[in-house]
Amino acid sequence: MALPEDVKTNPDFPIPETMKAWVLGDPGQLSLVDKPVPVPGRAEVLVRIDAIAVCATDLEIIYNGPPALIQGGDPFNKGFTPGHEYMGTVVAQGPGVDEYKIGERVTVEIHAGCGQCKRCREGMYTACHNYGMNYGDVDKGHRANGFTTDGGFCEYQVNNINTLVHVADEMSDEEATLVVTAGTSLYGLTELGGLVAGESIVVSGPGPIGLLGVAVAKAMGAQPVILTGTRDNRLEIGTKLGADHVINVRSEDAVEAVRRLSDGKGVDYVLECSGAPNGLNDAAKMVNRGGKICLAAFPHEEVPVDVAYLVRNNIYLYGIRGEGKTATHRAEAFMRQKRFDATLVHTHTFPMSDLLEALRYAKDRVEDAIKVVVKNEHAMGKEAEAAE
Ligand SMILES: [Zn+2]
Ligand SMILES: [Zn+2]
Repeated sequence: MALPEDVKTNPDFPIPETMKAWVLGDPGQLSLVDKPVPVPGRAEVLVRIDAIAVCATDLEIIYNGPPALIQGGDPFNKGFTPGHEYMGTVVAQGPGVDEYKIGERVTVEIHAGCGQCKRCREGMYTACHNYGMNYGDVDKGHRANGFTTDGGFCEYQVNNINTLVHVADEMSDEEATLVVTAGTSLYGLTELGGLVAGESIVVSGPGPIGLLGVAVAKAMGAQPVILTGTRDNRLEIGTKLGADHVINVRSEDAVEAVRRLSDGKGVDYVLECSGAPNGLNDAAKMVNRGGKICLAAFPHEEVPVDVAYLVRNNIYLYGIRGEGKTATHRAEAFMRQKRFDATLVHTHTFPMSDLLEALRYAKDRVEDAIKVVVKNEHAMGKEAEAAE
């Protein structure tokens, strides 16, 4: 491929002119097309995508649009490639890049903030004030893969070096796609002011962020860790990831059960990952006076909240968006040390050509699917080799 002179490549990793990429047409319609391979600019590398996990937010974007924001509007019929939880191999370095080498395995964060606004300067790049200002005559340097710029349901993508996380050799491609999910859980606990070892936590909602929230909280020394949810198979995985107690909210009153397990006082923290309409009110009743709630999921409709209860009980409320404050680097360190087995939430793998089937498994939870991973052809079967 003809690249600018200041972009470094390596003959071991030849780069084609074009690649196969899924693009979004009308809502819910994806098609596989040929696209030019993107060219890395300053402080960017080109990543050959090996594996990518499907996220519930991908389904939101593909069917409804938001939170994707392409050229200031909805993402439909703009040649946009969704997908954001990917990992791969660095195959080209943009001008001046020496932080990551060609051939190095990396997993990626979603957000490269503009790097110049107040929030980016504070490490809160997921709440960048120049979000999506990267089209037309305006280029603030902001990227959010699969949200405001092209994502990973394709073969190659450019990434700012700030979004890269080195992947340990022993970590499989599938596990590496989960680093950003664990990083999101860890960011939530960071925003609460940091979880203090020996303090108690409820994680509500055993989706991928909730399940890895259990794992991260346990690894940080929380005691006890209580998980609530509606599906027994997911609660069982939560137990394997470190939950001391699980509560199926279909068979018992979760607030009552939590208060019983915490000597009637309630727990120190709640990580709300269910997005249930009453999630916040329930969390308030589960947490003790002066306790802290982190909201990592949200209901689709506006919901009434018992504000008086929050105020009278001095309850702290935090919202998080994605993975900030380099939490993904810390999550990868936890996973590299095998402090928990994130692969327990990975249930299915499909080749990239079968993306539509992979999305159906994730959307309809076929065969109890939790995390569905899609791999490009060159990376398929690699896990089997590594296991020998
Ligand atoms: Zn995601
Ligand atoms: Zn910014």
